[in-house]
Amino acid sequence: MQRIAIDMDEVIADAYHRFFEWYERDFNCRLDPELCRGRYLRDAVPADHRSHVMKYAHTEGFFKDLPVMPDSQEVIRELSKKYEIFIASAAMEFKMSLVHKLEWMNEHFPFIPWNNIVFCGSKSIINADYLIDDHIRNFKGFEGQGILFTSPHNVNEPWSPRVNSWREVASLLL
Ligand SMILES: [Mg+2]
Repeated sequence: MQRIAIDMDEVIADAYHRFFEWYERDFNCRLDPELCRGRYLRDAVPADHRSHVMKYAHTEGFFKDLPVMPDSQEVIRELSKKYEIFIASAAMEFKMSLVHKLEWMNEHFPFIPWNNIVFCGSKSIINADYLIDDHIRNFKGFEGQGILFTSPHNVNEPWSPRVNSWREVASLLL
């Protein structure tokens, strides 16, 4: 069986949702999604808000109960019949995320056992045929085929193959 490694944030878990929610809570203003296209969220906010928002992902609760990306559960369930599925999240960057990420996986992807969940640092350690991720930097040193999952921050990044949704992942791999 070929093996697919799948990132969490912005691939199966909607972390932008939490960022927008907390930003509105803290600054009483809704971020314009158009401003987030082609840049990181931290660069889409006024410069004097930057140091504050850069603490979000390091804060207790940021990764708790994130929305699930559309169609990801159904498509990954189908993929798991044909491929060996691993979840690979560079969660070591955010120590507060670990428990919430694991709880989130157990709640939303109960068909993926704990043995197939990898919380790591560099994804170059991941041994898989495919890596579905929203950051091109995670393909560096990865020996399989990187598949870029579209997220507002990466819309201008040149990469192929790129997928815009889990339906497109299904078309590509099923
Ligand atoms: Mg990600």
